[in-house]
Amino acid sequence: MNEETFKKCVYVVLFLLIAIFFTKDINFFGPKFYRDVTEIEDSKELTVLVNKNYKLKEDYIPPDLEQISLDYATDEKYMRREAKEAFEHLSEDARQMGYQIIATSTYRSYDYQEKLYDYYVQMKGQDYADSCSARPGHSEHQTGLAVDVMGSNQDYDLFEQSIEFNWMKENSHKYGFILRYPSRKEKITGFKYEPWHYRYVGREVATIIYKNNWTLEEYKEQ
Ligand SMILES: [Zn+2]
Repeated sequence: MNEETFKKCVYVVLFLLIAIFFTKDINFFGPKFYRDVTEIEDSKELTVLVNKNYKLKEDYIPPDLEQISLDYATDEKYMRREAKEAFEHLSEDARQMGYQIIATSTYRSYDYQEKLYDYYVQMKGQDYADSCSARPGHSEHQTGLAVDVMGSNQDYDLFEQSIEFNWMKENSHKYGFILRYPSRKEKITGFKYEPWHYRYVGREVATIIYKNNWTLEEYKEQ
């Protein structure tokens, strides 16, 4: 190899390294978030997948919403009957062991989500809104099967630092709940790590997901 060819090779390698560096965070092969969007037909299914590619209809309201006992919620909060009963059971058992697991956000309507998302857009723009909130129809809070919880440190945002977090992580599947947005799974779920957000899928499915360390997306792909 003469000197000229060698130099060219070095330039090519440098160029490739720089290109890799700038594109490493771009997910070429994964789902294109908010691009290929499918409207969900069977929204009532307990394992329904709602994310940035599967959207609930604007008029979808879960059929069997019931209010969670105020013993286990910050105020008037609703979930679908089965999820509500499972959550109360979980929260009661936790209480017997000296933990406090309280629902801070559960069912949210399409309209509410739209207002919430728009608020973030107005405040800091669309990229910011997308980083911390789901667009309307894309929030699983609309299913009535999701719950944001807080522990005895009284702040859902700091749930990971509460004494309840580990208990919840290791036991919630026994009641049918999964940690829906785990850390290091952002490229699959499309959402950043949310230690406070749990989703009801039923005990059997929750246990499978827990044991395999999957997300709901990975479970649905099987
Ligand atoms: Zn949530």
